[in-house]
Amino acid sequence: MSLFIDQKSVNQFLTSINGIEITLKREDLLHPTVSGNKFRKLKYNLRQAQAKGYHTLLTFGGPFSNHLAATAAAAKIEGLKSIGIVRGEEARKLNPTLQFCKDQGMTLHSISRLDYRLKSQVQLIDQLQHQFGNFYLIPEGGSNALAVKGCKEILTEDDSHFDLIACSVGTGGTLAGLIDSALPHQKVVGFSALRNQTLETEIKKWTANQNWSLNHDYTFGGYAKVSIPLIEFINTFNKNFKTPLDPVYTGKLLFGIFDLIKNRQWHSDKKILIIHTGGLQGIEGMNQKLTQKKWPKIIV
Ligand SMILES: *Cc1c(COP(=O)(O)O)cnc(C)c1O
Repeated sequence: MSLFIDQKSVNQFLTSINGIEITLKREDLLHPTVSGNKFRKLKYNLRQAQAKGYHTLLTFGGPFSNHLAATAAAAKIEGLKSIGIVRGEEARKLNPTLQFCKDQGMTLHSISRLDYRLKSQVQLIDQLQHQFGNFYLIPEGGSNALAVKGCKEILTEDDSHFDLIACSVGTGGTLAGLIDSALPHQKVVGFSALRNQTLETEIKKWTANQNWSLNHDYTFGGYAKVSIPLIEFINTFNKNFKTPLDPVYTGKLLFGIFDLIKNRQWHSDKKILIIHTGGLQGIEGMNQKLTQKKWPKIIV
């Protein structure tokens, strides 16, 4: 399935709690391998790469990155080569995410955390160009102006009756697209999945609209950190609504929203649209870690 068709995802009404109606937009079902918001973020970047005559994409990510997996799959579909620069030495062992990337034909190259921190710097890019030849560079997490443009296609005219749009936030590119495309009467709230105090500033680089806010209360200690109550919430949610959530982003988002509504911390907005941004490929790798810790697993 090409990435370049105009895709619309289905809305799934979940439930009504304390008079608030909750609906989930199933972006996770957009595409079998290029999941959720990563489909939106890659669409115009791949078009641009092809229009400019590139044959190779290069990008960065952690060993469990949804973005790496989606880039590998998208490149394969579009007949492009892909190179994934993976953070940390442990990436030399292939976990399920990296195995998937490899199976899609991605060349994986792991670098130390220190080098990785220098990743946006010219020197490292020069070095990679020397090593791999010319490539179209997609930043970590895939967020740039073209990604924001793609994320503006998440909301459609059918969504105009919602008061509030909620989404999980990593780099903020997806949220910026939602902020830009929301209607004047709609508010957008992002739930941060990681601890990053500069997120507000980052998002303001992509959008001038002011109809939005960030919630930092449901990070569960940081990126990819989980707790037993979070895992239990994800499993109960799946049992009740027949809908899987990922532990890094959407699980924390739904946990946060249900928590706020149940504790009556949610006041004015009556009709909420929550974006299911996907990320389900990460469950297998997370379950391996949970098994090592002898914690409950995510039921799939
Ligand atoms: C990458 C990702 C996000 C975060 O998107 P940003 O645009 O980086 O904020 C949210 N949810 C899922 C499932 C993701 O894979």
